[in-house]
Amino acid sequence: MNAVRNIVILTGAGISAESGLRTFRADDGLWEDHPIEQVATPEGFARDPDLVQRFYDQRRTDIRAARPNAAHEALGRLDQEWAKGEHGDLLIVTQNIDDLHERGGARRVLHMHGEGLSAWCTACGARVRWEGTLRDGPPCPSCGAAALRPDIVWFGEMPYAMERIFAAIAACDLFVSIGTSGAVYPAAGFVQEASRAGARTLELNLERSLGSAMFDETRLGPASELVPAWVDDLLDPRETG
Ligand code: NAD
Repeated sequence: MNAVRNIVILTGAGISAESGLRTFRADDGLWEDHPIEQVATPEGFARDPDLVQRFYDQRRTDIRAARPNAAHEALGRLDQEWAKGEHGDLLIVTQNIDDLHERGGARRVLHMHGEGLSAWCTACGARVRWEGTLRDGPPCPSCGAAALRPDIVWFGEMPYAMERIFAAIAACDLFVSIGTSGAVYPAAGFVQEASRAGARTLELNLERSLGSAMFDETRLGPASELVPAWVDDLLDPRETG
């Protein structure tokens, strides 16, 4: 049954949970004990920049200490296999700000909500890799202004690369959503776009997401088990023909 060519994979905080990075709205609307409005909106940043900079300084520390788990590694393996020629396209669209997909071996990764290890200069617009702290107001390496903020897409801001994402979804024949609650738009609407494009849709999650009924199939369990099993199925030649 393996006529799959073009794959789009959407990942969310659930894929990194077993690497020790906490998910977002684990039923309480809090992220690491902070209300979302406080740490993930432009208004929250305007109100208390020091608190928000400290919050993301800590996320940067946590990201660097975390290790990819079996789910990230399986997607890395799939990406490398799929790049070998006889297959079609593959794109991993992640809502995560960690770099565990890349460290798990994946190359074609798009961070639609920005990256924890990146800073954005609000004076000159430069985006620079950043592993240290921002709370001390370091100068932008490009223009020297002390105007760096986390390169994170907050609620009310425009996610990155939407055109590229919608083009990939329109051309895919398999759409897989992994470890995302389906609560945050526009990502939560991708499954409908994929169905409209005629793609098969599969959800891998610990529990059913809000949009679960929109998927052709849902498999429930931890990502570190479900994702390697799914990748094995997809790559196993006995499954073809
Ligand atoms: P979410 O926190 O809203 O939902 C997490 C989902 O993961 C839930 O559906 C839950 O059932 C599932 N889940 C939890 N543990 C799992 C496991 N072991 N295996 C499989 N699934 C599991 O996450 P979201 O939908 O990605 O939205 C949260 C937003 O918060 C994102 O946009 C992101 O920018 C940000 N965020 C990022 C990180 C990160 O980078 N690791 C962490 C927290 C929040």
